[in-house]
Amino acid sequence: MKTIGILGGMSAASTQIYYRELCDLARHRLGGLHSPELLIRSLDFAAIEALQMRGEWDAAGALLNAEAKALERGGAELLILATNTMHKLAEPMMADVKIPFIHLADATAQEIVAKRLKSPALMGTAFTMEQSFYTDRLSAAGLSPVLPGVEDRAEIHRIIYEELCKDITSPESEAAYVAIAERLVQAGADSLILGCTEVGMLLNQDNVSVPVFDTTLIHCRAALDAALK
Ligand code: GLU
Repeated sequence: MKTIGILGGMSAASTQIYYRELCDLARHRLGGLHSPELLIRSLDFAAIEALQMRGEWDAAGALLNAEAKALERGGAELLILATNTMHKLAEPMMADVKIPFIHLADATAQEIVAKRLKSPALMGTAFTMEQSFYTDRLSAAGLSPVLPGVEDRAEIHRIIYEELCKDITSPESEAAYVAIAERLVQAGADSLILGCTEVGMLLNQDNVSVPVFDTTLIHCRAALDAALK
């Protein structure tokens, strides 16, 4: 089994989900006392969020690159970046890093295409929904993403940063997310991408009427598949 390097802490709330999910998957796949070989680097999200808000993407890319190299030096044999948003910087992050990188949007697109779905709604941070780095990868896979309206995008983003990234969930926010998901289905979405690694804290197949693709869970499966290859 290869060692998976996880660049996380973005936020810490979702990195905990990655850890638990990877452990559960390894136990189910391998049985007995098996658990995954992991190196987890959990950053201070306050520093990352400050760079995001100031639009200092070059500095953020250099920081992720230094951390990716440290994970490689530390023995990681493949890398995952445990946030959709920071995939904006996947390229600078992987500069001069030799080990494979499992891209979260590509892994997600593959699962949607395999199910023969075409028009996934996308719920994530404003960066993920409004910039092209993420939707371009979905389009390249032949998908036509459906985006929330301007007010819904602002509300999704607010709940991620003010609540989910602080490990806070509430029935009100769940109801708001369920209503937004339903509006996206009405707008023609045939599926829903939980395009932020914390959104699964509020939405899942039990409260959404179309097939749900939780990027955190998909990313964990793809990483473990690669580690066991
Ligand atoms: N975890 C988030 C994501 O998947 C948001 C936090 C961040 O900006 O990295 O996009």
